[in-house]
Amino acid sequence: MSQKVWLSSPHMGGTESKYVQEAFDTNWIAPLGPNVNGFEKDIELFLGGGCHAAALSSGTAGLHLALVLLGVKPGDEVICQSMTFSATANPITYVGATPVFVDSESDTWNMSPELLEEAIKDRIAKGKKPAAIIPVHLYGMPAKMPEITAIAHRYGIPVIEDAAEALGSSINGHRCGTLADVSVLSFNGNKIITTSGGGALVSKNDALVKDARFLATQARDEAPHYQHSRIGFNYRMSNLCAGVGRGQMEVLADRVAKRREVYKQYHTRLSGKAGISFCDEPAGYFSNRWLTTILIDPHVAGRTREDLRLALEAENIESRPLWKPMHLQPVFSSSPYYGNGVSDKLFANGLCLPSGSNMSDADLDRIYRVLDSMFK
Ligand SMILES: *Cc1c(COP(=O)(O)O)cnc(C)c1O
Repeated sequence: MSQKVWLSSPHMGGTESKYVQEAFDTNWIAPLGPNVNGFEKDIELFLGGGCHAAALSSGTAGLHLALVLLGVKPGDEVICQSMTFSATANPITYVGATPVFVDSESDTWNMSPELLEEAIKDRIAKGKKPAAIIPVHLYGMPAKMPEITAIAHRYGIPVIEDAAEALGSSINGHRCGTLADVSVLSFNGNKIITTSGGGALVSKNDALVKDARFLATQARDEAPHYQHSRIGFNYRMSNLCAGVGRGQMEVLADRVAKRREVYKQYHTRLSGKAGISFCDEPAGYFSNRWLTTILIDPHVAGRTREDLRLALEAENIESRPLWKPMHLQPVFSSSPYYGNGVSDKLFANGLCLPSGSNMSDADLDRIYRVLDSMFK
């Protein structure tokens, strides 16, 4: 059997080991140190817009801290995009709040601004104003943030941007990760760049980011002994992981370019095939194309997305259905949901194709052979 082609695998640039070696040489083997500070600076420089970054142990930790910092408490409701990975929604339950799920719109496959406003109005009518809103930039495609933040502003509700999949994406030149009150990044092993595991909380509010660092290191008051006035967390990024991150930041632009090239090649290759469609960028929107995703209309294509997934799997090529929406997850079956059928359809017909920036032309040829045999 030929080598496995992965959906999205880590792709080191070369200098990561230099930063990690420095950590060893100077004995900074801890969740603090020069690499952590340097990595935060790199993120701030890349994102621009006067933002500040706190490097954390994961994106999930970042979402949890964001909710804590915004004061979301037990009994609150938080509006969350339904079409996403469970890590977006789980932290809402960590703070004792209830997720209220909102469906996607078909331009970006992300949170529908219309349904968001409908949900806000209905929750207020039922007696409770939502405590926060969490849109997600799925697969690197920015959500309709101008519309979403305008609505949120009108009702005085803070927005947490889940930019875990969208480092390098932007709207009209403004980068994802700077488009909300608080933003969260992930550097998990499958993301566009990785620290093996890691994340960051980003905000223009310097005091809030300082508070994130404080809470992420066990909330130790200033005292020679260990004294605590608030509940803390052990959520800081390790100096070793941050070393990997510094190296990865040097190649981020290349990784975005390569992922976009992979998308373009799939698009060209599949554009003539009946029943296959892509998620195009709305005007002014720029996606890092973390994963190339397609929709297969089985009535037109004569094949389902599951037919293609199994055909790829038979050739040792990994692909994956789009995220199963949260409103369809057994664990969230009792949560309120405002839907229009978009995410149900995306889940039924959507597939993520292998999109790694380290795929070879031979890998792509293997994938194209399967695609060509399935679709005329
Ligand atoms: C990966 C991911 C997360 C979680 O990030 P981790 O660093 O793995 O905890 C959250 N939301 C989305 C949309 C993700 O893809």
